[in-house]
Amino acid sequence: MPLKTKYPQGSERNLVHAVTGRKMASDDRPEDLGCVINNVTTLAAVYHAVCMNEPLMEKGFTVTGDAVANPGNFMVKLGTNLSELLEAAGGLKAEPKKVIIGGPMMGMAITNLDRPVAKPYNALICLTEDPVEKADGQMTHCIRCGRCARACPVGLVPQMLAFYAERKDYDRYIKLHGLDCLGCGACTYICPAKRPLMQLFKLTKGTIAHNEAVQAAKNAEKEAATV
Ligand code: SF4
Ligand code: SF4
Repeated sequence: MPLKTKYPQGSERNLVHAVTGRKMASDDRPEDLGCVINNVTTLAAVYHAVCMNEPLMEKGFTVTGDAVANPGNFMVKLGTNLSELLEAAGGLKAEPKKVIIGGPMMGMAITNLDRPVAKPYNALICLTEDPVEKADGQMTHCIRCGRCARACPVGLVPQMLAFYAERKDYDRYIKLHGLDCLGCGACTYICPAKRPLMQLFKLTKGTIAHNEAVQAAKNAEKEAATV
Protein backbone atom coordinates (compact mmCIF):
# COMPACT_ATOMS: atom_id res chain seq x y z
CA MET A 1 0.00 0.00 0.00
CA PRO A 2 1.82 3.15 -1.12
CA LEU A 3 1.73 5.87 1.52
CA LYS A 4 1.87 9.62 1.18
CA THR A 5 5.41 11.00 1.25
CA LYS A 6 5.51 13.05 4.41
CA TYR A 7 7.60 13.42 7.53
CA PRO A 8 7.48 11.63 9.88
CA GLN A 9 5.72 8.72 8.18
CA GLY A 10 7.95 5.91 9.43
CA SER A 11 7.22 5.90 13.15
CA GLU A 12 5.19 2.91 14.39
CA ARG A 13 2.30 5.07 15.51
CA ASN A 14 2.06 6.88 12.18
CA LEU A 15 2.41 3.73 10.11
CA VAL A 16 -0.27 1.85 12.01
CA HIS A 17 -2.64 4.79 11.63
CA ALA A 18 -1.82 5.43 7.97
CA VAL A 19 -2.22 1.78 6.94
CA THR A 20 -5.08 0.57 9.15
CA GLY A 21 -6.75 3.75 10.42
CA ARG A 22 -6.27 2.41 14.00
CA LYS A 23 -5.00 4.86 16.59
CA MET A 24 -2.39 3.73 19.11
CA ALA A 25 -2.80 4.93 22.69
CA SER A 26 0.30 6.01 24.64
CA ASP A 27 0.95 2.61 26.14
CA ASP A 28 -0.13 0.54 23.11
CA ARG A 29 2.31 -1.48 21.11
CA PRO A 30 1.62 -2.24 17.41
CA GLU A 31 0.88 -5.88 18.41
CA ASP A 32 -2.00 -4.64 20.57
CA LEU A 33 -3.64 -3.41 17.38
CA GLY A 34 -2.86 -6.52 15.39
CA CYS A 35 0.20 -5.14 13.61
CA VAL A 36 3.83 -6.18 13.34
CA ILE A 37 6.21 -3.60 11.92
CA ASN A 38 9.56 -4.52 10.44
CA ASN A 39 11.71 -2.19 8.44
CA VAL A 40 13.34 -3.32 5.20
CA THR A 41 16.77 -3.66 6.82
CA THR A 42 15.39 -5.94 9.52
CA LEU A 43 13.60 -8.12 6.95
CA ALA A 44 16.78 -8.42 4.91
CA ALA A 45 18.70 -9.37 8.08
CA VAL A 46 16.09 -12.04 8.92
CA TYR A 47 16.36 -13.44 5.39
CA HIS A 48 20.16 -13.62 5.64
CA ALA A 49 20.02 -15.24 9.09
CA VAL A 50 17.31 -17.80 8.32
CA CYS A 51 17.92 -18.64 4.67
CA MET A 52 21.66 -18.11 4.36
CA ASN A 53 22.81 -18.75 7.90
CA GLU A 54 24.61 -15.41 7.99
CA PRO A 55 24.66 -13.19 11.08
CA LEU A 56 24.12 -9.45 10.75
CA MET A 57 27.51 -8.18 9.63
CA GLU A 58 26.85 -5.32 7.24
CA LYS A 59 24.32 -2.64 6.49
CA GLY A 60 23.43 0.04 3.96
CA PHE A 61 24.85 3.40 4.98
CA THR A 62 24.52 6.86 3.39
CA VAL A 63 27.31 9.44 3.41
CA THR A 64 25.98 12.81 2.35
CA GLY A 65 25.87 16.57 2.93
CA ASP A 66 27.20 19.54 0.97
CA ALA A 67 30.67 19.17 2.53
CA VAL A 68 31.16 15.65 1.10
CA ALA A 69 32.98 15.30 -2.25
CA ASN A 70 31.05 12.29 -3.63
CA PRO A 71 27.96 11.57 -1.53
CA GLY A 72 26.65 8.04 -1.91
CA ASN A 73 25.21 4.86 -0.44
CA PHE A 74 27.52 2.06 0.68
CA MET A 75 27.19 -1.50 1.96
CA VAL A 76 29.53 -1.48 4.94
CA LYS A 77 30.64 -3.92 7.58
CA LEU A 78 29.40 -3.05 11.07
CA GLY A 79 32.35 -1.58 12.92
CA THR A 80 33.76 0.28 9.90
CA ASN A 81 35.32 3.53 11.02
CA LEU A 82 33.34 6.60 9.97
CA SER A 83 36.47 8.42 8.81
CA GLU A 84 37.29 5.51 6.43
CA LEU A 85 33.77 5.65 5.12
CA LEU A 86 34.08 9.38 4.51
CA GLU A 87 37.29 8.70 2.59
CA ALA A 88 35.40 6.19 0.43
CA ALA A 89 32.98 9.01 -0.39
CA GLY A 90 35.85 11.12 -1.70
CA GLY A 91 36.55 12.88 1.59
CA LEU A 92 35.56 16.44 2.38
CA LYS A 93 35.44 19.18 -0.24
CA ALA A 94 34.81 21.85 2.40
CA GLU A 95 35.25 22.17 6.15
CA PRO A 96 32.02 20.94 7.79
CA LYS A 97 30.45 23.12 10.46
CA LYS A 98 28.20 20.31 11.57
CA VAL A 99 28.51 16.54 11.37
CA ILE A 100 25.44 14.45 12.12
CA ILE A 101 25.15 10.72 12.59
CA GLY A 102 21.64 9.55 11.70
CA GLY A 103 18.98 11.42 9.75
CA PRO A 104 18.82 15.19 9.27
CA MET A 105 15.88 15.62 11.67
CA MET A 106 16.50 13.00 14.35
CA GLY A 107 20.24 12.44 14.06
CA MET A 108 22.83 13.40 16.63
CA ALA A 109 25.62 15.95 16.19
CA ILE A 110 29.09 14.46 16.66
CA THR A 111 32.51 16.03 16.91
CA ASN A 112 34.69 12.97 16.34
CA LEU A 113 34.64 10.73 13.28
CA ASP A 114 36.75 8.12 15.00
CA ARG A 115 33.81 5.89 15.80
CA PRO A 116 32.34 2.77 14.23
CA VAL A 117 29.25 2.22 12.10
CA ALA A 118 26.74 0.68 14.50
CA LYS A 119 23.32 -0.88 14.02
CA PRO A 120 21.07 2.08 14.97
CA TYR A 121 22.58 4.53 12.47
CA ASN A 122 22.06 4.69 8.71
CA ALA A 123 23.75 7.91 7.67
CA LEU A 124 26.57 10.38 8.13
CA ILE A 125 25.80 13.98 7.14
CA CYS A 126 28.49 16.66 6.84
CA LEU A 127 27.14 20.20 6.45
CA THR A 128 28.94 23.44 5.67
CA GLU A 129 26.32 25.34 7.67
CA ASP A 130 25.18 24.66 11.21
CA PRO A 131 21.44 25.35 11.35
CA VAL A 132 21.53 25.50 15.17
CA GLU A 133 24.37 28.03 15.14
CA LYS A 134 22.51 29.99 12.44
CA ALA A 135 19.40 30.17 14.65
CA ASP A 136 21.51 31.16 17.66
CA GLY A 137 20.54 34.59 18.93
CA GLN A 138 17.31 34.54 16.92
CA MET A 139 15.25 32.76 19.57
CA THR A 140 12.36 34.79 20.95
CA HIS A 141 9.56 34.12 23.40
CA CYS A 142 6.80 31.80 22.26
CA ILE A 143 4.23 33.83 20.34
CA ARG A 144 1.54 31.17 20.82
CA CYS A 145 0.97 30.79 17.10
CA GLY A 146 0.10 27.10 17.53
CA ARG A 147 2.14 25.96 14.52
CA CYS A 148 4.05 23.42 16.59
CA ALA A 149 0.81 21.76 17.72
CA ARG A 150 -0.46 21.57 14.15
CA ALA A 151 2.84 20.03 13.03
CA CYS A 152 3.10 17.41 15.79
CA PRO A 153 2.35 13.97 14.29
CA VAL A 154 1.24 12.53 17.63
CA GLY A 155 -1.11 15.34 18.59
CA LEU A 156 0.98 16.85 21.39
CA VAL A 157 0.95 20.55 22.29
CA PRO A 158 4.68 21.35 22.20
CA GLN A 159 4.39 24.92 23.47
CA MET A 160 2.75 23.67 26.67
CA LEU A 161 5.21 20.81 27.03
CA ALA A 162 8.05 23.32 26.68
CA PHE A 163 6.44 25.54 29.32
CA TYR A 164 6.47 22.72 31.87
CA ALA A 165 9.80 21.26 30.77
CA GLU A 166 11.51 24.64 31.24
CA ARG A 167 10.07 24.84 34.76
CA LYS A 168 11.09 21.24 35.47
CA ASP A 169 7.46 20.44 36.27
CA TYR A 170 7.81 16.81 35.23
CA ASP A 171 4.44 15.68 36.61
CA ARG A 172 2.56 18.06 34.34
CA TYR A 173 4.90 17.25 31.46
CA ILE A 174 3.99 13.56 31.85
CA LYS A 175 0.27 14.37 32.23
CA LEU A 176 0.37 16.14 28.87
CA HIS A 177 1.82 12.93 27.34
CA GLY A 178 5.26 14.46 26.90
CA LEU A 179 6.76 10.97 27.07
CA ASP A 180 5.03 10.16 23.77
CA CYS A 181 7.24 12.68 21.95
CA LEU A 182 8.97 10.89 19.06
CA GLY A 183 11.77 13.44 18.88
CA CYS A 184 10.90 14.00 15.22
CA GLY A 185 11.81 17.70 15.32
CA ALA A 186 8.79 18.86 13.28
CA CYS A 187 7.85 21.38 16.01
CA THR A 188 11.37 22.82 16.16
CA TYR A 189 11.53 23.07 12.39
CA ILE A 190 8.25 24.98 12.11
CA CYS A 191 8.64 27.28 15.13
CA PRO A 192 8.94 30.93 13.98
CA ALA A 193 10.36 31.85 17.39
CA LYS A 194 13.27 29.41 16.75
CA ARG A 195 12.68 27.61 20.03
CA PRO A 196 14.70 24.40 20.46
CA LEU A 197 11.62 22.38 21.42
CA MET A 198 12.70 18.89 20.41
CA GLN A 199 16.08 19.29 22.13
CA LEU A 200 14.28 20.34 25.31
CA PHE A 201 11.95 17.33 25.13
CA LYS A 202 14.85 14.92 24.61
CA LEU A 203 16.60 16.37 27.64
CA THR A 204 13.42 16.23 29.71
CA LYS A 205 12.65 12.63 28.80
CA GLY A 206 16.24 11.68 29.66
CA THR A 207 15.98 13.45 33.02
CA ILE A 208 12.65 11.76 33.82
CA ALA A 209 14.07 8.33 32.91
CA HIS A 210 17.13 9.04 35.06
CA ASN A 211 15.00 10.15 38.03
CA GLU A 212 12.84 7.04 37.71
CA ALA A 213 15.91 4.78 37.61
CA VAL A 214 17.36 6.46 40.71
CA GLN A 215 14.01 6.09 42.51
CA ALA A 216 13.72 2.42 41.50
CA ALA A 217 17.25 1.74 42.80
CA LYS A 218 16.40 3.45 46.10
CA ASN A 219 13.19 1.43 46.44
CA ALA A 220 15.06 -1.81 45.73
CA GLU A 221 17.66 -0.89 48.34
CA LYS A 222 14.95 -0.15 50.89
CA GLU A 223 13.18 -3.41 50.13
CA ALA A 224 16.42 -5.36 50.47
CA ALA A 225 17.12 -3.72 53.83
CA THR A 226 13.71 -4.70 55.22
CA VAL A 227 13.98 -8.39 54.19
S1 SF4 B 1 5.50 27.22 17.06
FE1 SF4 B 1 6.92 28.21 18.51
S2 SF4 B 1 6.08 30.25 18.78
FE2 SF4 B 1 4.45 29.03 17.85
S3 SF4 B 1 3.28 28.24 19.63
FE3 SF4 B 1 4.82 26.72 19.14
S4 SF4 B 1 6.55 27.20 20.49
FE4 SF4 B 1 5.23 29.01 20.41
S1 SF4 C 1 9.49 16.49 18.43
FE1 SF4 C 1 7.80 17.95 18.51
S2 SF4 C 1 6.54 17.47 16.73
FE2 SF4 C 1 7.87 15.69 17.06
S3 SF4 C 1 6.65 14.33 18.37
FE3 SF4 C 1 7.88 15.60 19.74
S4 SF4 C 1 6.55 17.32 20.28
FE4 SF4 C 1 5.66 16.35 18.46
